[in-house]
Order: sequence, then C-alpha cells, then structure tokens
Amino acid sequence: VTDALASLRAAFSGGLLTGVADMAPFLTDWRKAWTGTAHAVALPDSTDDVARIVRWCAARGWRIVPQGGNTGQSGGSVPEATGDNLVLSLQRLNRIRDVDPANDTISVDAGVILQTVQETAAAHDRFFPLSLGAEGSCTIGGNLATNAGGTAVLRYGNARDLCLGLEVVMPDGEIWHGMRGLRKDNSGYDLRDLFIGSEGTLGIITGAVLKLFPKPAGRATTLAAVASPSDAMAAFAAIRASHYNELTAFELMSGFALGLVTTQFPGLRLPLGAPALWYLLIEFTDLLSETAAREKLEAALAAALEAGHITDAAVATSLAQSRTLWQLRERISEASGRTGKIAKHDIAVPVSRAADFIAAAHAAVADAFPASKPITFGHLGDGNLHFNYRLGDGDDAAALTAIVNHEVRACGGTISAEHGLGVLRHREAWAHCNPAEQRMTTALKNAFDPAGIMNPGKVIP
Ligand SMILES: Cc1cc2nc3c(=O)[nH]c(=O)nc-3n(C[C@H](O)[C@H](O)[C@H](O)COP(=O)(O)OP(=O)(O)OC[C@H]3O[C@@H](n4cnc5c(N)ncnc54)[C@H](O)[C@@H]3O)c2cc1C
Repeated sequence: VTDALASLRAAFSGGLLTGVADMAPFLTDWRKAWTGTAHAVALPDSTDDVARIVRWCAARGWRIVPQGGNTGQSGGSVPEATGDNLVLSLQRLNRIRDVDPANDTISVDAGVILQTVQETAAAHDRFFPLSLGAEGSCTIGGNLATNAGGTAVLRYGNARDLCLGLEVVMPDGEIWHGMRGLRKDNSGYDLRDLFIGSEGTLGIITGAVLKLFPKPAGRATTLAAVASPSDAMAAFAAIRASHYNELTAFELMSGFALGLVTTQFPGLRLPLGAPALWYLLIEFTDLLSETAAREKLEAALAAALEAGHITDAAVATSLAQSRTLWQLRERISEASGRTGKIAKHDIAVPVSRAADFIAAAHAAVADAFPASKPITFGHLGDGNLHFNYRLGDGDDAAALTAIVNHEVRACGGTISAEHGLGVLRHREAWAHCNPAEQRMTTALKNAFDPAGIMNPGKVIP
C-alpha cells in the first residue's frame, strides 16, 4: 500500500491525506452511525485531477467513495469497513464558475457549499431556492447526488428540478462535459438525470449548471395550531388553492415533537396560547414586498380559522422571529436524539393520502410497540414525513420500521423520499423493486461502472 500511495501521490497535484487522525472525519458519517476504512482521502483541486485519480483507481481496482460535506443521512458518503477504498472529497473543488443573470443560471464546481450558492445568487439579485438544515456544510454535488429536497420543494421542486447541466467524471476517468444551461433540450436520452440521485454509484459530479429565480422581496412565516393531520390537509388544500404562487413551505410537526424541542432548548418557546396536538409552519414569499407577503398570509390564516381548519396562529413580525420559528422545526432531530433511541424514517406518500397514512401507521405501531412515541414532522405539502419513533426499552427498531414500511406501501408511498438509500435503506428498497426496475438498474450500473468501483455497497446491495 505504501508504494501504491506514493504512485497515487504522483498522479495528481491536490491534497492526499493518509494519517489516521487526518482521515478520521471523512470516515464517519454526520450521524456517527457508520464508520469505514480507507487507504487515503484525496482532495483534488480540479476536474482534471479528479479524472487522474479515477483513472489511477480504475487501473488498480481501488473503490472510490465520492464525498461532499458528509452531511448525508443514509451512510452513503463513508466507505465500507474493508477493501482498497479511497475517499474522494470534492471540498476543494469549490469555485463559482459563472453567473448568467440573463439566463437565470449559475455554474459551479460540485464542492461549492449550498449556502455559498444562495449568497452568490443573492449578490446578483437572484434567488437559489434549495434550502435545508445542513446548507452551511453540504455541497451542491452532494445535493444533486442525493436529489435533496428541503423546505421549498413545494414551490420550486427538488435538486433535480433545479439542475440544467452537469459535468461528470465517469468511472473510467473520462470527463462528460454536459454543462448546458438549456431549459429545453430533447437531443436524446437525459443523461444528466441518471446521475442526479445516483449517490455516487455511477460517476463523480464535478460541476453543475443550476437554475436561478427572481429574488422574493418579502417573506412571512407563521406557526399555526391544528387539531389533526386531516385538518392540516384541509388547511393545505385551501391555502394552496387561494395562494399557489406565494405558498413556499408547509411543514407539519406533532405537539410531542415540539415539546421535546422546547424542553431540550429552553430558549425556544411556542408563541401560541394553549398547547396543541399538531402544528404547522407555513411560509409565504412575495416578489413585490414584505407587507404583501404578510398581508396575504394573514388573509389565508383568517380564512383557515374561519373554516375551522386551524385553531390558532402567530405570524412572525421580524426576521428574528421567523428564524426562531424555523429553529423549532429544525431542532426536532437534535432534540429527539438527546432523549432516547430513535427509529428514523424518511417516507413519502401521495399528498392526498398523508392524513390516512399517519392515522394507520400510528395505530399499527402503537399496537405492536405501546412504549414507543411517534415524533412525526416533515414536509407535509410534499407528502414527505420524517416519521420517526422514540423506542421504548427493549423495542426492536427493525421490527418497528417494518410496520412503518408496510403502511407506506399500503398507501402507494416510498421509504426513501429525500435522504437517499445509502446503506441505510438499500436492501429494503431493492427487495421491493419490481423485476423490471431491478433489471434496468443493474444494466445501467453495469454499463456505467462494469468494474463496480464507484461507491460499492450503496443504493444497490
Ligand atoms: C441538519 C441536517 C438537515 C438536513 N435536512 C435535509 C432536508 O431537509 N432535505 C434533504 O433532502 N436532506 C437533508 N439533509 C441531508 C442531505 O441529503 C444532505 O445534507 C445533502 O444533500 C448531502 O450533501 P453533502 O455534500 O453533505 O453530501 P455527502 O453527505 O458528502 O454525500 C451524500 C451522498 O452523495 C454522494 N456524493 C457526494 N458528493 C458527490 C459528488 N460530487 N458526485 C457524486 N456523488 C457524490 C456520496 O457518495 C453520498 O452517497 C440534512 C442533513 C442534515 C445534517
């Protein structure tokens, strides 16, 4: 291995880490649930260097794990426990290549941090809408490789919907130059879409052309109380029908989940009079003004109160208050993690079936695991819920997950909505692919990566 590392060192000009302590942060995932091993961590500075490293690995059969910010939730960004593994970090590939306001596009290296893309867009009086809790650490390459969702999917779509072009280093080291900023392009198969959501198993994304939008002038946020998920769905349908263009986020949180947040983070308080069983975090944006955003939100809430869909609401009157409301939502994972063992799920069902799913799954789990506690929250407007459970003493997480997954399927849903399969859900997802899906997926993997060196053991078991 020492000779091999010397040869790899000579093959490209970027950074190469081989020390145990230097490599450690790259070998364990953000949740600290998975740890792997690698001979080295490569930190290339250019696409050409990525290609050189990949060619070097392909010649020796070394397996490559692409890594961005290492914030993924499914263990896809860390290597397996054994084998000739190399982590290829895109961290240093972090240039903004071009901003084209007239085309409403930005072209970036894959290692650019999501928040940097948002800020660069804002500096050009444009808006890049992808937004999620890890935006200060995750990279555009990771966002695209996992087809990340986040809080504004309802209005702007997920990472796939925001991407027009890609540059990819293929598993044999060839560079695919697909950095096209076209909104219409029917010239053959859509190769770009194959890489989005492939979690590093088909190639390494090194660059992307992303869509920009007009910058909203105003933003208004509310925390509303609702009696049940059915009422939440009724509120959603009415607000979406009356304010389709303004409605940007529609998040559901259980009272139990928010109770954990206010207990664990005493600085955070619910700005409503009485406790409720369920809460909504709703955000409106308006292209013209802050006042318009707030007035439209208040009108929508008044109608929802009048119709009996919501029981109370508090609208943030400053940016600081709006941030505090979002903190309530974003701290749920951390707060629940502090209070016990959690079985995590990232499911989606058709929006029309979300309330039925919640009722059926809660009942089925309560029946089998009476000591467990549902910690339900998520992007209700997309039908995507982080349908988590705090386990009771001795509860079998896998058996509880099997019940949840059964209910998801019964509602025509998916067990992997926005976090990717990684190593967390790949076996379960594969087992429930139909034969045609398995054949096509295997054929694609074999066509792109016949030697199987790209992120093995992820997505496809
Ligand atoms: C606090 C927190 C909140 C989050 N909230 C959300 C949310 O609301 N919505 C949501 O969708 N996700 C959320 N996530 C998870 C989210 O998927 C990741 O944060 C992000 O999209 C992954 O980016 P990353 O750069 O960290 O990728 P990594 O974690 O480094 O990698 C993730 C996967 O992508 C692959 N990969 C990374 N870069 C490349 C590349 N350049 N080319 C090919 N493959 C690559 C890796 O091999 C791995 O399989 C959250 C995570 C945290 C920690």
